[in-house]
Amino acid sequence: ASDANQKIDYVFKVVLIGDSAVGKSQILARFARDEFSLDSKATIGVEFQTRTLVIQHKSVKAQIWDTAGQERYRAVTSAYYRGAVGAMLVYDITKRQTFDHIPRWLEELRGHADKNIVIILIGNKSDLDDQRAVPTEDAKEFAQKEGLFFLETSALQATNVETAFLTVLTEIFNIVN
Ligand code: GDP
Ligand code: MG
Repeated sequence: ASDANQKIDYVFKVVLIGDSAVGKSQILARFARDEFSLDSKATIGVEFQTRTLVIQHKSVKAQIWDTAGQERYRAVTSAYYRGAVGAMLVYDITKRQTFDHIPRWLEELRGHADKNIVIILIGNKSDLDDQRAVPTEDAKEFAQKEGLFFLETSALQATNVETAFLTVLTEIFNIVN
């Protein structure tokens, strides 16, 4: 539905970060358009997508930024983080390395973003539990230690994607209100 005539109370910029192929673009496609693609191309050029939702009777436009294939270490520019009030730090539960890189992403995020940024750690591809390489407990413990929200999602099955965005957006909403 078009939101052309809708009054917007808030615009919240949220950035997606994490290694290549963890499912960032599909998480965004699921949230913004309720779509999923198994052969998704590496992201090129697309800066952000928006979806407007209602939180506590206010309309909130979520502006979700996706890396344009800049997932190499330190390739994400500071412009990407500028003005972000939320971040989703994504790894793939079947690829240990993508979880091991999370501290590096977090450090980069904390170096560039506002200190009050709301961060959620996301273990994506929970539908591939038979190939799991990252125990839920490890991620939960890390998130707790670092003060991050944490959820496992499946963009494929649409599990927890909505909840993940709502968790971040509601927390941001509560901070600004
Ligand atoms: P990005 O590089 O982080 O943006 O990753 P993409 O969103 O392009 O996804 C990389 C690959 O993982 C694609 O083949 C997707 O179809 C696949 N993928 C993304 N999310 C999921 C998921 O939740 N489950 C499964 N099984 N595959 C996924
Ligand atoms: Mg992508």
